[in-house]
Amino acid sequence: MRIDILTLFPEMCQTVFNESITGRAIKNGILQINAINIRDYTLDKHNRVDDTPYGGGTGMLMQAQPIYDCYKALCEELGTKPHLVYMSPQGTVLTQKKAVELSKLPNLCILCGHYEGVDERVLEEIVDEEISIGDYVLTGGELPALVLADSIARMIDGVLANEDAYTLESHYNSLLEYPQYTKPAVWNGREVPPILLSGHHANIEKWRREQSLLRTFERRPDLLQTAELTKKEQQMLDSFALQAQKCAEADES
Ligand code: SAM
Repeated sequence: MRIDILTLFPEMCQTVFNESITGRAIKNGILQINAINIRDYTLDKHNRVDDTPYGGGTGMLMQAQPIYDCYKALCEELGTKPHLVYMSPQGTVLTQKKAVELSKLPNLCILCGHYEGVDERVLEEIVDEEISIGDYVLTGGELPALVLADSIARMIDGVLANEDAYTLESHYNSLLEYPQYTKPAVWNGREVPPILLSGHHANIEKWRREQSLLRTFERRPDLLQTAELTKKEQQMLDSFALQAQKCAEADES
């Protein structure tokens, strides 16, 4: 897969991806990530890429021309129009499902805004979808673009060691992951749950699934609405709910 990031700060993006798991995927040729400097496409003789908003107001806006020409040059190089995502606090909030969906594309282009944002007309002209990384506002789209690209990169075949590395993780199946432990077996007086040392794989799987359900119930019950559960698991959740209700009533009295 090839991901192109259109930005005013290309160094911010490139450094991050050359490290760790994504760095290895790039070296192995599974993934290609380019950060393209929008400023290289400005026609302004002073190299400007922003101006004041019509109608007044604070701050500066990124102009349409440099972004559009940068995007057109990319389309020409690729020989096709890539799916274009504009990182924006006004977009749909990123989910694991969206990361999986975008990881199936051969090409993805991510546009990073800066200052007060981007002239609306170029967004109307080139953007396929707007994605937010959460309900807060950052200075620029670079960190959100890195978050999006990283969440996509680890879903591409061959980037992680095997499918289990992500299918069992939090959010993949609308459940949070079970708690995990590594050596030593006792740390600071705290023991690893004995079942994990038993070597009994079926019982370990069962324990992990129960812990995953319990964790999701306690921390993110909203996720359970879309989780695929067996009848037995649904009964287990009902008993968690009953227990929680009893505890709340006991606290009140
Ligand atoms: N004036 C804009 C508004 O109120 O919607 C916010 C502009 S923000 C200061 C500058 C840029 O940062 C945006 O164009 C966008 O690319 C990026 N950005 C900020 N917060 C973001 C978020 N939560 N998710 C994705 N991108 C974000």
